[in-house]
Amino acid sequence: MSSSDSWLKIRRQNITDWHALCALLELTSTQRKRVLEKSRFPLNLPLRLAKKIAKKSLRDPLLRQFVPLVEEEREAEGFVRDPLEEARFLQAPKLLSKYRSRMLLLATPLCAMHCRYCFRRHFPYEKGRISYQKELDALARDPLAREVVLSGGDPLSLSNRALEQLVIQIEKIEHVERLRLHTRLPIGIPERIDDGLLSIFEKRRLKMILVLHANHPKELDEDLFEALLKLRRKGVLLLHQAVLLKGVNDDFQTLKELFESLINGGVIPYYLHQLDPVEGASHFYVREKRGKALISRLLAHLPGYAVPRYVKELAGKSHKSLI
Ligand code: SF4
Repeated sequence: MSSSDSWLKIRRQNITDWHALCALLELTSTQRKRVLEKSRFPLNLPLRLAKKIAKKSLRDPLLRQFVPLVEEEREAEGFVRDPLEEARFLQAPKLLSKYRSRMLLLATPLCAMHCRYCFRRHFPYEKGRISYQKELDALARDPLAREVVLSGGDPLSLSNRALEQLVIQIEKIEHVERLRLHTRLPIGIPERIDDGLLSIFEKRRLKMILVLHANHPKELDEDLFEALLKLRRKGVLLLHQAVLLKGVNDDFQTLKELFESLINGGVIPYYLHQLDPVEGASHFYVREKRGKALISRLLAHLPGYAVPRYVKELAGKSHKSLI
């Protein structure tokens, strides 16, 4: 293993075992009963994030995002397996055309962490060896595709070699001008932004954009911002997105701290998403009225560029809807 693959070694230390998790968090026997020992979307939590979780509590904002709790088994009206009906936007097995000038390529099913509210937690990802030929052919056939969004899963779960090959292939398509990567991985493993990755972002014809997904200030720290600074120095535009989640970030102080820290770290808050109603995540739901009140208050306290657009996705609509 080359030194630039050390993040893979770190990923192998992820907490995936219920017993190890309960022991690390020093949960009492009563608390353990509220943690699901088995889930269809299994526990997967980078050690670094696990160590930031407060002990002997089920209320920690990181725990709520990454640890499967019994609330997930609650059935709730309107919460379904494919809330955005993505299956009907497929142009090729992993290529979604939801918006006119942007194409979404699901580069990998893998993530370095499993977020309990993820709207793709039930997505029927392909199994086996990944080939992008059908997706690249479909992209080449569509001259309106000016921007490619790499999502997943988390595209930074790919090895540098696989990612570089993919980026080179996309860059060969002349009408594509921008490449955007949606990632959450650096909050769990900032070491992922290694020399190999930086060289992929360097000297590209494509404008490179990275959208960091982070929901709570506890996810941010110096190591993360140092890693992101290296990307900024390579000319990568850094944006941010979050999901409004009950019991995690649905309060003014938390959001204010989150957006201020991001701006200070050179990352522009871009979207605050209303939760997509995916099966198993109803306990995270925040009413729009509350979300709107939070945004109004934030606008009164922060510069406009530090307050993201509060949006929701409606199945079948060709753009996000501003709330
Ligand atoms: S990292 Fe993103 S794609 Fe992966 S589980 Fe979390 S929200 Fe879903």
